[in-house]
Amino acid sequence: MPKIPVKLVEWNEIVEWSWGLARKIEESNYVPDVIIAIARGGYVPARLLCDFLGVENLISIQSQHWTEAAKKGERAIIKFEYVINLENARALLIDDIIDTGESVILARDYILNTWKPKELRIAALQWISPVAKIKPDYYYMEVKEWIWFQYPWTRLEDVTQFIKRIIEANYNEKKKSTWTLDEIVREFEEWYGIQVDNRYFNSAVNILVKKGIIKKINNELIYLLGKA
Ligand code: ADP
Repeated sequence: MPKIPVKLVEWNEIVEWSWGLARKIEESNYVPDVIIAIARGGYVPARLLCDFLGVENLISIQSQHWTEAAKKGERAIIKFEYVINLENARALLIDDIIDTGESVILARDYILNTWKPKELRIAALQWISPVAKIKPDYYYMEVKEWIWFQYPWTRLEDVTQFIKRIIEANYNEKKKSTWTLDEIVREFEEWYGIQVDNRYFNSAVNILVKKGIIKKINNELIYLLGKA
């Protein structure tokens, strides 16, 4: 059993899910004039929805979680604020997944207050219903048990983060600080229950070396405690 529930999502599933989402929007007779992608997760679904719904206008807003220095908690912020006039437009705000719902709520409120669309509806490929603070107007899939969806557009970022966690946890629990790449791959598959192409492991390791989290000596990877 993997330690962390992860589902590897393939590109063809994204196309299927976006197609299904488009059909639901179409069946509701909502015809958006403009699609607004929440950066960064909403980009690919938003582009596909433009195609599947025949929408030409695509814009974006970046709403992102921000860890405060005191680490009291996390709050979402709008990263690059700008003002446009959407008074005459019906808009559709889209994200990949609504987990806590905080980023989408923040984006929605910002858009309603400053861009003032005639109407704004929310869509997501997935909606984690037990934890989300908001139910989108449209979703393709309701997720009833929390899981991490490893989307194809965050593969390297996720693999890097996952490897870092494995290395840190092993150091904290067993004081293990030296690894071969094969050991990392084995542990990765045990922890996360997914397999990814080798180039992701190689690049992830290079990123961790560049960040000063590990050091590479011959074929050994050494965790540099305290440098992270
Ligand atoms: P929200 O709950 O509004 O989506 P979060 O800050 O929880 O806000 O999520 C922001 C982004 O983080 C999501 O749009 C998605 O890209 C990513 N994310 C959050 N939860 C998951 C998850 N369970 N699986 C994959 N990606 C996720």
